[in-house]
Amino acid sequence: MSNTLLQLGPSEIKIKKHWCKACGICIALCPKDVLEADDKGKAVAVAPEKCTRCGMCEMHCPDFAISVEVER
Ligand code: SF4
Ligand code: SF4
Repeated sequence: MSNTLLQLGPSEIKIKKHWCKACGICIALCPKDVLEADDKGKAVAVAPEKCTRCGMCEMHCPDFAISVEVER
């Protein structure tokens, strides 16, 4: 039986830069090093292909600035 997750397309990580306060929580929590800080400390998705959609970044962002969506 196939794994449903493997049938999904790549994650789309959306970051609302104007809401992001550069706290770094999502960068620290991401288990796959998908996120890095830009020159202002705001989160950028540098390796979205490594995202497992665990949801840690979205759940813990204090400003609701990051969301992970799945392309189908
Ligand atoms: S959903 Fe998980 S793996 Fe994907 S960017 Fe967020 S913390 Fe990283
Ligand atoms: S947790 Fe939210 S506010 Fe903090 S760096 Fe990540 S996206 Fe920005």
